[in-house]
Parts: sequence; C-alpha cells; structure tokens
Amino acid sequence: MSTSESQEPTLSSEGSETKSKKASKKEAAKLEKQRRREVAAATSATSTLSVEDDPLAVNYGIVPLIELQSKTPANVNDWTRVEALNDSLENKQVLIRGRAQAIRPVGKKMAFLVIRENGFTVQCLVQAQPDLVSPQMVKFAAALSRESIVDVEGVVSIPAAPIKGATQQIEIQVRKLYCVSKAIPTLPINIEDAARSEVEIEKAIQAGEQLVRVNQDTRLNFRVLDLRTPANQGIFRIQSQVGNVFRQFLLAESFVEIHTPKLIAGSSEGGAAVFRLDYKGQPACLAQSPQLHKQMSICGDFGRVFEIGPVFRAEDSFTHRHLCEFTGLDVEMEIKKHYFEVMDVVDKLFVAMFDTLNTKCKKDLEAVANQYPFEPLKYLPNTLRLTYEEGIQMLKEVGVEIEPFGDLNTEAERKLGQLVLEKYGTEFYILHRYPLAVRPFYTMPCYDNPNYSNSFDVFIRGEEIISGAQRIHVPEFLEERAQACGIEVKTISAYIDSFRYGVPPHGGFGVGLERVVMLFCGLNNIRKTSLYPRDPLRIAP
Ligand code: ATP
Repeated sequence: MSTSESQEPTLSSEGSETKSKKASKKEAAKLEKQRRREVAAATSATSTLSVEDDPLAVNYGIVPLIELQSKTPANVNDWTRVEALNDSLENKQVLIRGRAQAIRPVGKKMAFLVIRENGFTVQCLVQAQPDLVSPQMVKFAAALSRESIVDVEGVVSIPAAPIKGATQQIEIQVRKLYCVSKAIPTLPINIEDAARSEVEIEKAIQAGEQLVRVNQDTRLNFRVLDLRTPANQGIFRIQSQVGNVFRQFLLAESFVEIHTPKLIAGSSEGGAAVFRLDYKGQPACLAQSPQLHKQMSICGDFGRVFEIGPVFRAEDSFTHRHLCEFTGLDVEMEIKKHYFEVMDVVDKLFVAMFDTLNTKCKKDLEAVANQYPFEPLKYLPNTLRLTYEEGIQMLKEVGVEIEPFGDLNTEAERKLGQLVLEKYGTEFYILHRYPLAVRPFYTMPCYDNPNYSNSFDVFIRGEEIISGAQRIHVPEFLEERAQACGIEVKTISAYIDSFRYGVPPHGGFGVGLERVVMLFCGLNNIRKTSLYPRDPLRIAP
C-alpha cells in the first residue's frame, strides 16, 4: 500500500530536527535559517509576505542539500505513483514526487500545479487556509520554475467537473510542498513546444497564429528535455520492448546470449567504413558488426547465439536511416539442411514482436501517433517470402528495371514495398535468393546457380531492417571467396582458421534496433529512435 490514513507520509526536510539524534540543535537552527532564506529568495524580493514570520513555514520550501545526501532513510512506499492516483483514494493523504509541468497562480490566495511523473499528470491545488496553508506557501508554489522536481503532500479530492489538463481525474489539496531540484527559469526548449505535432502547427498557421516549431538539431542539442515529451517517452519504451521480446523469444528457443569484442585488430570485415584507432601501438578499429565473432561462437559449440550490442559504421551516410553507431540485434545458428531454417526464426520472432508491441505498448504507440501520425503496421501471421527474381519481375511489370544481378536501390525497395502491399496486403516481408555479387564474401552461393546466394533481406514499409544468410563454413572456399572480393586473407586468418577445426553448417542475420522502431512507428528519421544519435555530424551529447 503506497498510501494509508494511519501512516502519514514523512518528508525528510521536515524530519531533520526530530529524527537525527546526532544533529546538534545549533546545526538544525542554522539549517532552518538557511532554508527560510532560500524560500524567501525563491518567492520574491519585493514580497510583503515574510517567510521568516510564517508559523507554517515548515510545510514548504527548498529541501536543503544535506537532506538529499542520503541523510535520512525513507520508505519509498510512502510515495504514491501519479499513475496510481484515482478516486479510491478520496479524502486520503498522499505524497507524490514529480515535475512541476505547469504552474498557474490565481490571485494571491491560490495556485494550481500540474505534476507529471512517467507521463502521468495530476492537478494540485495550493489554496491559502488558516492554520493549514499560508499565503506565503501559495506564493512559493506560484514562484516554482517549470520542470522542477517537487514533493507534494496533500489530500485527494474528486472534482465536480472533469479535469482537462491532467491524466488523473482527481485533485490534490496541497498541505506540504517541497522543491527537491530546481530547474532554471528559462528552459532552452519548452516541453509543450517539443511535444507539438505538425498538424497542430499547421492548423495554428491557418488560424493566423504562430506556434513554436522545435527543429531536429535543437531537440538533439537539448535531448534530455526533448526526451520528456509523450512521443519520446513512447518511442523509447517501445524500443525497450523490442529488445526485450528479441531476448526473451530467443532465450526460449535455446539461443545463448553472447558478448563479442568491439575492439578489433585491423578492420573487422575488411571494409573501409570503419573507425580506426590506435590499440597500444597496433592498428585497430571499432567492430562494424559482430559477424565474425558470432560465427566463431558457432565454431565454439554454442549452437544458437544472439547478441544485442553497439555496431559502428564510419561511412558518410547523410540519410534518414543511417547512423554511425546503432544497436545491432544479431543472431547466428546451426542449420540442419536449409537457410529457410534461419528465415523461420525471423518470421516467428518478428510476428511475436509485433503482436507484443500492439498489445503491450498501446499507450506508447498512441503517444507516438498523437505527435507523429501513422497507420498500424500491416503484417501476416505467416510472413510472406518472395525470391529476388520474383521481386524484380514485379518491378519490371510496372516499368522499373534493375540491372542484371544488381542490388535494389532505396527507391526500388520502396516501390517493391508498395507493390507487395497492394498484392499481398502486408508491409512486412522477406526477399531472398539475392545475387551473390551484392552480398558479403562469407555468403553461401546457391547450390543450383552460383550467381545467386542463400541470403535474404527483410523489409518493413519498403525499407530494409534485416540482412541474413547461410555462411560459407568450408575454409578453403571461404578463402577463395574472400580473395575474389579483394579481401586480404591474412587479415582475417583467425576467423578462417576457426573453420579448420570442424563447424556445423550455419547462418544468421543482423537487425538494426533503431530501424525496427522507426519503421514500425512509421517515423521519418532514425535520429528519432536513437536516444543520443551519432551521425557523421554529431557525436554529442
Ligand atoms: P543499408 O543497405 O541500409 O545501408 P546494410 O546492407 O549495410 O544496410 P547490414 O550491414 O547488413 O546493412 O546490417 C544489418 C542491419 O543493420 C540493416 O538491415 C539495418 O537494419 C541495420 N543497419 C545497417 N547499417 C546501419 C546504419 N548505418 N545505421 C543504422 N542501422 C543500420
């Protein structure tokens, strides 16, 4: 029980004098004097209401630092979550902690506060009343800066009319109010502005009104404020659920979670797009995928492995879908006969993931859609599989030509996504049997035509989220393919040698976490789904 009538919540600032036996009376008096001085400063220099003379001054103020240095142990159950505030608590005393999202003084005797915690908000009324709430306390409340962290203690009441500006349909009649952490009075971005949708801005423009539009760079410069918007709270809770389903699903399917090194000697896959660094005098780089080590773990007899970890790409890709650091969701597994076994895992894993997001993240998806409107993803219970050749044929029929054994460019991928949606009613599908020439050197060629490979890409709304394949597990063949692709074999000898000690046929795939969230939510930029994005122009905050 977070709230009870008999057990009155205690606030550390109030308890300092009585609870700390060691604190001398002198020290306590000094602290109280300092606290009152700070309260007086926080209200107004011109105030005629003196905090020093207020017999109720103990009920409000700025919590002194010493109290926040873990001086007094507290029972966290004394605090009620804002989300849990409902009419069953009528007339009960509650203590909450949250941000002062809105502060609205009404004359000198009343101030409304809206307190936000984890996206839930509650209206609180600070009203001057003899022996309970002093006018000085109302003034203190009115002078709080927005986004400050406050502790509010008060009695729950049920308002006669519905409350429009808060999620919880109760009101707290404030008895005590303490500021735990003060936000600066003028924030670089207002949360209200950052939370506004384009639709609202456009509507306002048409009505001759001017509303602030916060651009992407400003948002990212002040990301901690930007992250407080309902849409961003939703995005990163959805992201957390994607990682969670990925992990839980694979663990249940007997996969082992591994952690491969991110510091790699030479260059990880022989590519140029790596971040080079000096490793104690040796040339090294940041891993551009866990590819080689996850395969080596199959050689090490783990059978089925997965990893969730950072992936570094140095190429100068100034697009809406490329980052220089992203979170890779990687899988590698033994296969008995066919690379379709890997595609079966993709199919079941992602259908389970989408089902979970749709059932468990309803509120988060709604929050995202309120600011960035999108249609729910259309997907089938059994994921559609098309061969590359079938895809090319569909494009050909509408006049889009792809060069023989060439890759699909972004535009062709989008177009194919549209055609697949029209024909099969899904925005999630697998395209497999790609030309060998457009895949990495370790991809297994098809048994019946070496121009094609046992590989696949997976698409959401016409954009790639996954690449996968059966790998070449025969060392001599792997050497041959590496050479053919212009890779210096000796730089990857440890990888190739791993296959000389016997290894089962295997395959796997790599997913970009930020891309999955971006495309599931129909967002237009991967920077929106990366907590602190790194791109060719940004490495901070
Ligand atoms: P693309 O063709 O989109 O550049 P890729 O073929 O280089 O991707 P892989 O190297 O096969 O992709 O990586 C597997 C997955 O990792 C991709 O499907 C994508 O989801 C994600 N990914 C790849 N590169 C990036 C990047 N620069 N930023 C964010 N995610 C990426």
